[in-house]
Amino acid sequence: MSDKPYPIQKSDADWRAQLDDMQYQVTRHAATERAFTGQYWDHWERGHYDCVCCGTRLFEAQTKFDAGCGWPSYWAPVNADVIERIEDRSHGMVRVEVRCQQCGAHLGHVFPDGPAPTGERFCINSAAIDFAPDA
Ligand SMILES: [Zn+2]
Repeated sequence: MSDKPYPIQKSDADWRAQLDDMQYQVTRHAATERAFTGQYWDHWERGHYDCVCCGTRLFEAQTKFDAGCGWPSYWAPVNADVIERIEDRSHGMVRVEVRCQQCGAHLGHVFPDGPAPTGERFCINSAAIDFAPDA
């Protein structure tokens, strides 16, 4: 993980205490949940999706689409400032990792093969986000 000083900082022990094991492994150690196993890949209610670590609102349900990949997919975050993009050269690929700007939580990756209007596909782990229905 990077050494960037995120606004929200917690000790490893505090993150472990706050999160369940899958949430912890995904957000703090960049693990990937297995496709079609997460809570939100086939979830279509109206509302928004927040960072499971710090509660920052990240994605709106209106930008969610079925990418057929088994992970929740969005064509845009709520705004560009909530997401950090980092080049990821792990696993013999060059990908762009996306993290929460507030707490550094690993969320997933962004790919340039999404639908209009952005042409981007944010491929996000269900374990990194919490759904909240619109009030
Ligand atoms: Zn966060």
